[in-house]
Amino acid sequence: MTDELMALVRIDSLSRREGAIAKRLASDLAALGAEVSVDDAGERVGGETGNVMARLPGTLPGPAIVLSAHMDTVVPGEGVVPVREGGRIRSDGRTILGGDDKSGVAIIMEVLRTLVERRIPHAGVEVVFTICEEVGLLGAKHFAVDRLKAKDGLVLDSDDASFLFTKGPAADRLEFTVTGLEAHSGICPERGISAIQVASEAIAGMRLGRVDPETTANLGLIHGGAAANIIPKETVIRGEARSLDEKKLDEQTTHMRRRFAEAAARHEVTVDGVVHRASVAEVVERDYDRLHVPEDCAIVRDVLRAARQVGAPVTTSATGGGCDANVFNAKGLQIANLGTGMRAIHTRNEYLLIDEFIRSARIVLETVRLHGMG
Ligand SMILES: [Zn+2]
Repeated sequence: MTDELMALVRIDSLSRREGAIAKRLASDLAALGAEVSVDDAGERVGGETGNVMARLPGTLPGPAIVLSAHMDTVVPGEGVVPVREGGRIRSDGRTILGGDDKSGVAIIMEVLRTLVERRIPHAGVEVVFTICEEVGLLGAKHFAVDRLKAKDGLVLDSDDASFLFTKGPAADRLEFTVTGLEAHSGICPERGISAIQVASEAIAGMRLGRVDPETTANLGLIHGGAAANIIPKETVIRGEARSLDEKKLDEQTTHMRRRFAEAAARHEVTVDGVVHRASVAEVVERDYDRLHVPEDCAIVRDVLRAARQVGAPVTTSATGGGCDANVFNAKGLQIANLGTGMRAIHTRNEYLLIDEFIRSARIVLETVRLHGMG
């Protein structure tokens, strides 16, 4: 398993450039006796490949299970050199490791290999290796879930293998473009409206960060102005809001929109008899829906039982992050997210705890076995 992981992280696979890894996984899956196909998601998002889907036929009549992980990584993710040190695998410090989410991919491949080699009875495993998770869950969004027979399963895409994430936030993506009025800042500032000042007023009074135990909000990017001696005409601010509770999410998004509108309404100037007012154009869209897998459903029951049986108890939890599971659930599947042992993800310090990685694979293998017994 660790050898497989070391090999996978050496294959560059930034978002939209998952062609090489998809090819390798498709051929490995076919060699295991799975039916493999690649969908058209790649064409739709301008990438090298679509999502890789595989079906390993079952030997029992029970319900099939879905196992999913994403093939793409964040930057800096090219030329990864994995280093195995004690109980860890890390990068050499120049790049991320890419254990997010190749640890999930490696676990799934190992589980399939073990099922086949040891002839373990199961009711069918459907694998979805997605593209472009890191750039907005795009592969999952373009995946047609009616291609699956299974109704439930797991995404392997979080850190601590003692947790099964069954709840996650819905998220809104927000962009505000504040427009003021350009003027020479030294000669005639009274003929201008500073878009940066309007934006600042809006942001200064805004609830951001951890808004409540279930809700977070962030403005993460700001861009505007042309020069130090020009009253800035335009400022663009991008951000997001998330909440486990959709009503709270709507309230937070409304609050942020209102602050911008109120700040703009306070600014107007009259130049040569013409009244100019600051304005705000906004783009607000639902990025993804919440993850909400009921505690009493089959997949949760099977994972908890499997974890106890392999001596590595797991508890269900809520996460503040979004992943492909959010999208799959919104499309009618029941998919929870199990940790793989990865840590410090999206940084050059990223590493993988080998013990936890193996423990996660044991839990998944046992879950597949139990699930197939219905
Ligand atoms: Zn991930």
